[in-house]
Amino acid sequence: MKVGVLALQGAFREHRWMLERCGVEAVEIRKPQELDDVAGLIIPGGESTTIGKLMIEWGLMDKIKERSANGLAIYGTCAGMILLAKEIVGSDQPRLGLMDTVVRRNAFGRQRESFEADLNVPEFGAEPVRAVFIRAPYIESAGSAVQVLATVNDKIVIARQGKFLATAFHPELTDDDRIHQYFIKMIQE
Ligand code: GLN
Repeated sequence: MKVGVLALQGAFREHRWMLERCGVEAVEIRKPQELDDVAGLIIPGGESTTIGKLMIEWGLMDKIKERSANGLAIYGTCAGMILLAKEIVGSDQPRLGLMDTVVRRNAFGRQRESFEADLNVPEFGAEPVRAVFIRAPYIESAGSAVQVLATVNDKIVIARQGKFLATAFHPELTDDDRIHQYFIKMIQE
């Protein structure tokens, strides 16, 4: 199975390494046609406005939407979570808008620009997930089709809607590959 990692900007290499560690072939995606033979796509953290603009410039915005309508599974971390959201509070920046979520950018405030937290995620077992948040967004509200997998102070930080998965934090910067494994299972379902 091949899984793509959108490689326009941001932390895409770490996702590639994580996927390879999980035993799947990882492909960096920069051109629309490179999406044709991947079963899943990861949109990394970075700067969501930049990634969104580049997606349009490189012809990837429409292509990803088209492939997602045909079953492509997509996992967005941080900026990727923002790009998956239908609504971004106070912003009309480009987005895929595939998840029924309202996202707030840089949502944890200045004093908490970056922090780590242990998340309780029943879906991943008893061991907590160590989550690294960097100028992180959160999901402020979500439609009924969205499954909430974890929260921090009542803010949604892991959510799933069918073939789409979003985390506000960066699992690719830790040693814990359970979220990538979960995404790989989602692709196979
Ligand atoms: N704050 C960034 C944005 O709004 C996201 C940060 C990240 O991806 N680590 O795009």
